[in-house]
Amino acid sequence: MTDKNFQAHEIRDKIKIDYKYTYGSQSKFFIDLMSDKKLQGTKCKKCGKVWMPPRVGCSDCFEDTEWVELPHSGQIMVSTIVWYTTSDFIQKIPYGIAFIKLDNADTALLQGVFSENLVPSKIKKGQRVKAVFKTAADREGKMTDFFFVPEDEYEAWINQEQYEGGK
Ligand SMILES: [Zn+2]
Repeated sequence: MTDKNFQAHEIRDKIKIDYKYTYGSQSKFFIDLMSDKKLQGTKCKKCGKVWMPPRVGCSDCFEDTEWVELPHSGQIMVSTIVWYTTSDFIQKIPYGIAFIKLDNADTALLQGVFSENLVPSKIKKGQRVKAVFKTAADREGKMTDFFFVPEDEYEAWINQEQYEGGK
């Protein structure tokens, strides 16, 4: 039973926080994405492993890496379909999300995969995908600046006025 002498009195309120954060040593990835639609990975100077997402140091042999530009195409390694999401993507559900290994990369990047006629067979292991970018005016240097689409839908996506292809 509730003891009124020790009842919690709750008041609903809001906190607004303006803040900024840094991508630190990963910043080049986001700057080049925003400015030039480049997908920059890193390559280990010792073992040659190509990391995407980029890592400043190789997690296998702990040597320094160097930046290396990767192609905009790759394939899905593992995927799922998203039905619940954040406000940024609520208009897009259902959509795919997948670990995508870009060609020339040794590791996979987690990113959204959109499809005009989404069926699970289009968002599955082995599916070839290609990166589509927001237009320059909309790119902010964030992961939401780009997404992937099945290769056979690429032309249709980049012909929409809010999107564009890479170089
Ligand atoms: Zn290494």
